[in-house]
Amino acid sequence: MSTTPRTYDLVGIGLGPSNLSLAALTSREPGFSAVFLDRKDAFDWHPGLMVPDAEMQVHFLKDLVTPVDPTNPHSFLAFQVEQKRLYRLLVTGRSKVPRREFEQYCRWVSQRLDNLRFGVTTETVEWDGSAFLVHTTDGVLRARNVATGTGLTAKLPQCAVGHDPETVFHAEQLMRRPREFAGKRVAVIGGGQSGAEVVSHLLASEAQRPARIVWGTRRTNLLPLDDSPFVDELFLPDYSRHFHSLPEAEREDVVRRLRMASDGISLSTLQDLYRRLYDLELLEGGGRPCRILLDQHLTALTRTPEGLATTWQASRGGDPVHEDVDIVICATGYEHGMSEPLLGLKDRLNLHDGLPVVRSDFSLDWDGPAGHRVYVQNAARREFGVADPNLSLLAWRSAVIANSLLGRERYDTGSVSTALDWEPLGSDAPDPSRPGAVAAGRA
Ligand SMILES: Cc1cc2nc3c(=O)[nH]c(=O)nc-3n(C[C@H](O)[C@H](O)[C@H](O)COP(=O)(O)OP(=O)(O)OC[C@H]3O[C@@H](n4cnc5c(N)ncnc54)[C@H](O)[C@@H]3O)c2cc1C
Repeated sequence: MSTTPRTYDLVGIGLGPSNLSLAALTSREPGFSAVFLDRKDAFDWHPGLMVPDAEMQVHFLKDLVTPVDPTNPHSFLAFQVEQKRLYRLLVTGRSKVPRREFEQYCRWVSQRLDNLRFGVTTETVEWDGSAFLVHTTDGVLRARNVATGTGLTAKLPQCAVGHDPETVFHAEQLMRRPREFAGKRVAVIGGGQSGAEVVSHLLASEAQRPARIVWGTRRTNLLPLDDSPFVDELFLPDYSRHFHSLPEAEREDVVRRLRMASDGISLSTLQDLYRRLYDLELLEGGGRPCRILLDQHLTALTRTPEGLATTWQASRGGDPVHEDVDIVICATGYEHGMSEPLLGLKDRLNLHDGLPVVRSDFSLDWDGPAGHRVYVQNAARREFGVADPNLSLLAWRSAVIANSLLGRERYDTGSVSTALDWEPLGSDAPDPSRPGAVAAGRA
């Protein structure tokens, strides 16, 4: 007797904070069948950059659920209460908790949801004419809808590609295993938050301190993250909707102009770092522990008998700078590309400049039936701007997706109070992120 394979309402691919939020928001929907997959064996969060004193860049209330569903049992506050820590957290006066604590919270949520499967890699997704087939290392799943939350890909400068990964590596590899830095000459590339955290980490332990650090950035200075009040309104749902409705050329321009709202260094990190440099150089009298190269980018990296020769060039021209080092750490960010498993659907997607076009309900524009959708999380910076890779609107984005999947306004994702006026252009037009635009088939 043949059995018809089960068709899920949703298969989620990747279980970082993005899809964990969607799993938490859909977990209490009677009759809604979903399963979420991740290749890791258990939840962890950017383990390679989990330096001991790293802090979140957003308030702890911007968790997986609270901004759209404060009574959800998977909130950060519920975690704190269950762990009997809330009073003490309040005594610390922190609004931004350590990154380790956010990871502990997410792991706690991941252990309470029963439809998550770890240790399963998704290889590809295809459409068989009536459902998506999700090919995994643990068999094939059928789904009416798919949501990818597979994160971004670490980016290396071209000249750093192909070297021995023991000595030239991306910052995301830093803490993945013990490393020996004592007495070495280390170059750090990149003047954003990760670069600053790597340099702080290298300076932290006397026993492990490099003999010399060269820290180079294309930026004109080590610039702070702009999270001042009006700029912070870029991380409200209304601005995201407004941004989505802007013409593309304007969107690109806005992202360029507002870069420091997302790509700067936390003021607290800068202050700690400056004080550490002061103490090491002036109180301990060990000379300047770190040479900072501003407005310089790495143009060449070659292996020599003595180590690695780095060449830096200023954007304004002039003589190149040369530094010989033993180790190069690239804090050079992440690429916003297409999620690999979706390559199986590539021919059916509406691509623009090689990337799928993302609609206002975070589903991809494709040529299949309207009632079946591929949602993307953290893959729409072009359409939704600087807030897309950030945690601020994580719960809101998952709520928009949940409403679209459920075909009703399960969560209020409409306008909120704002100090600035952000109107979606042509706001009379039907908004596909509003309920009723698509109803997922039921199990
Ligand atoms: C070090 C660091 C710190 C950050 N701190 C902050 C912060 O404080 N505030 C903030 O707003 N933003 C922060 N961000 C930015 C952003 O919020 C995080 O990158 C966040 O983790 C994005 O979540 P995600 O779920 O989209 O992706 P990820 O967390 O990258 O998760 C993707 C998951 O998909 C899985 N996966 C990938 N491919 C497959 C596959 N084919 N099959 C199965 N599983 C797969 C991976 O194993 C991974 O678990 C930080 C980013 C970094 C790198």
